[in-house]
Amino acid sequence: MTVPNPGAEAPSDVASLYIDGEWRHAASGGTFDVRDPASGALIGRVAAGGAGDATAAVAAAATAFPGWAARTAYDRSAYLYRAHSLMLERAEDLAKLMTTEQGKPLRAARTEVRYAADFLLWFAEEGKRAYGRTIPSARADQRFMVMHQPIGVVGAITPWNYPISMITRKVAPALAAGCTIVLKPAEQTPLCAVEVFRILDEAGLPPGVANLVTSEDPAPVGEVLLTDPVVGKLTFTGSTEVGKFLARRAADQMKRVSLELGGHAPFIVFEDADPVHAAKGASLVKFLNTGQACICPNRLYVHRSIKDRFVETLRDRAAAMRAGSGFTDGVTVGPLIDEDAYRRMTRQVDDAVAKGAQVMAGGTRLTGDDVDGGYFYAPTVLTEVTPEMEIYREETFGPIAPVIVFDDEAEVIEMANDTRYGLASYIYTRDLGRALRVSEALRFGMVGVNDINPTSAAAPFGGAKESGLGREGAQEGLLEYLETKLVGISI
Ligand code: NAD
Repeated sequence: MTVPNPGAEAPSDVASLYIDGEWRHAASGGTFDVRDPASGALIGRVAAGGAGDATAAVAAAATAFPGWAARTAYDRSAYLYRAHSLMLERAEDLAKLMTTEQGKPLRAARTEVRYAADFLLWFAEEGKRAYGRTIPSARADQRFMVMHQPIGVVGAITPWNYPISMITRKVAPALAAGCTIVLKPAEQTPLCAVEVFRILDEAGLPPGVANLVTSEDPAPVGEVLLTDPVVGKLTFTGSTEVGKFLARRAADQMKRVSLELGGHAPFIVFEDADPVHAAKGASLVKFLNTGQACICPNRLYVHRSIKDRFVETLRDRAAAMRAGSGFTDGVTVGPLIDEDAYRRMTRQVDDAVAKGAQVMAGGTRLTGDDVDGGYFYAPTVLTEVTPEMEIYREETFGPIAPVIVFDDEAEVIEMANDTRYGLASYIYTRDLGRALRVSEALRFGMVGVNDINPTSAAAPFGGAKESGLGREGAQEGLLEYLETKLVGISI
């Protein structure tokens, strides 16, 4: 693969739709530009797929489904193993492409590619474990058998913030389960998606098993995935707002849905924790991907007795972070994805300051030679944050760390749970009893205890409340693509 050179002439003849095993142009002939968010430079052009292309992709997936479902799990696994090897062989180029297209520092992009490849490897094996069970009946002449069968054609929609791993997290379990798939990637990061599908193609997948529709306008493609009766399941990662819209529409045909949506993670530091260690953890996970990760903390609750040490450490670390192109050594802060994101940072900080918050670090857009052309926002630490502020309720999805002081365990549990979201949460404590008690009391899909990365292909990822439905990764991630069937037998 070739990594695009920002500013160089982008290709005009773009066949980036992968449908029925072929690379195609959009039926309309339309294309759209892809830009480097760090500089605004043009880096590529892809096909602007529309409803007709999506319909063709769904039809190809439907045709391929019976043959793919009939293969053994061992056979399907071999394709995923090949895709895994190809992804690792190309890891460096994929990481460079991701840095160019999405903006994250190269080191972080390399980590994401390895994480993405893990899903291919893990589900290559887990697909062999779609175990059923037998259940004793109350009748002597009856047997119950439970089996799991692939749901059918899956429609998948992915975001830009993790442009490769969010794809393999869906494609790998779907294919392992015996489903076929049509994927629409985010309009900001279609080039990464094209490279993932090149790998699937080279892994030798039969035509129609995995299909890609790049598009600039998500609605018409989404509408096909929502309304074509052949699509049995919709899997989505993105904002809660779009997720709710899709779930409502999917309900018309009672399609299965998995939704990985927004978060508003609490990060609780108890009085028995080391405030410096906790602040280091907080800065790593808060500023991860420039704060553009659904598991980023959005409310940092710190016990009053250790607040000063915690805030000083967090402030110093935020102030020392270097922003710029992800290709520059030492850069840990990439650009925000677009102007809307920059406006949201400004709005949330202005609102918080107007209501009494103190800015301990950052609080401004970054300008200068290193960051010219992109939307760079300084890693920011706010104190004196209160529930009346917008940042206390709404997902920030950017590099702003709001600190709130608390006095006791019951109070902080109540505050942490006071949100419509329920994805990730974090606690720092050296008291085992408290760690278990608070883990049980937090109404979130994931809890990190003295741990800022409770994620792995082998572990169930997902949220409670308005953070979504279903889980990705792990055994649970495979079940999302399987229908449970009961067979009752009279003997
Ligand atoms: P978004 O909801 O705007 O877009 C996500 C995807 O949905 C994109 O592919 C987009 O094109 C598509 N989309 C938008 N409108 C659509 C429509 N009407 N029909 C069909 N598709 C449509 O979200 P975003 O800004 O790209 O991503 C950020 C959000 O994703 C954040 O809220 C973040 O927390 C969430 N996220 C969640 C997880 C998770 O696992 N829970 C992981 C990553 C990101």
